[in-house]
Amino acid sequence: MRKDISIFTVDVEDWFHILDVASTPPVSRWNELPGRVEQNTRRILSLCEEHGVRATFFFLGWVARRYPHLVKEAAAKGHEIASHGFSHRLVYEMSPDEALDDMRESKRLLEDLAGMQVHGFRAPGFSVLDEAPWFFETLLEAGFTYDSSVFPGPRGHGGMRSNRFGPYIVSVGEKSLVEFPVSLIKFAGRNICFSGGGYLRLFPYRFVRYLAEKTLASGRPVMFYVHPREIDPKHPRLPMSLFREFKSYVNLASTERKLRKLFNDFTLVSCKGFIGQYMESFPVVKLGATAGGNDPGVSSAR
Ligand SMILES: [Zn+2]
Repeated sequence: MRKDISIFTVDVEDWFHILDVASTPPVSRWNELPGRVEQNTRRILSLCEEHGVRATFFFLGWVARRYPHLVKEAAAKGHEIASHGFSHRLVYEMSPDEALDDMRESKRLLEDLAGMQVHGFRAPGFSVLDEAPWFFETLLEAGFTYDSSVFPGPRGHGGMRSNRFGPYIVSVGEKSLVEFPVSLIKFAGRNICFSGGGYLRLFPYRFVRYLAEKTLASGRPVMFYVHPREIDPKHPRLPMSLFREFKSYVNLASTERKLRKLFNDFTLVSCKGFIGQYMESFPVVKLGATAGGNDPGVSSAR
């Protein structure tokens, strides 16, 4: 794998899609709320265009249905369209059948709108657990060829003990799919996340760049991820605990500046673009196997 290429992704959802907060409105009320995702996604699209970045946009099916032109615009600008599920439900709160319906519904809609095949999936809140091995089987059944839903460590929603921090191939019986886990890196004795969401907003850019360079030097791409609401400091706020408020809204005004710097400092491609170039070098892992060995995707090799 080349040591200077990373991945840029956007989870396309609105300000009222924050997970695990009591004040998050139910799906039946979403249509009544003033959306901000259209203007914010367009802002990210123009930042990408300005810097020549082609990214993966993981669209929530619900957003695609409300703003179909947004999917078409992103596709027309050369970005990869992928799925963030339909109704933003946590994987561990769904049955395998419900998850399959949610995945299929979003995939079908996005493919119709984008006029291209949708290969990738990212679960809301990276909510895949070790206890739900059916998740990968269900993704394959729904027709996805890669996933980016694994947070390889403890976390509020989800988290897996895989300990694999770089892309790998999950082998499920006769079939397989690529997994792009969230980038974690060992720093001061702890595995930390730095490349998206609240972490990217909280840390100073120089620290993010340092950890990203350290990740690349260890032979793995950085998986960057943002949400459209994160470049919009004026979006409406949901009431929540002080701790969650901090995580959800800290440093919103810094995101756009940080993205501009990231776009200048790193070579960024979509998930599909990365697979196209490097899939042959990904290690193969049997579903359910714990990480070991000496490949660059495994944290203990550091
Ligand atoms: Zn989400």
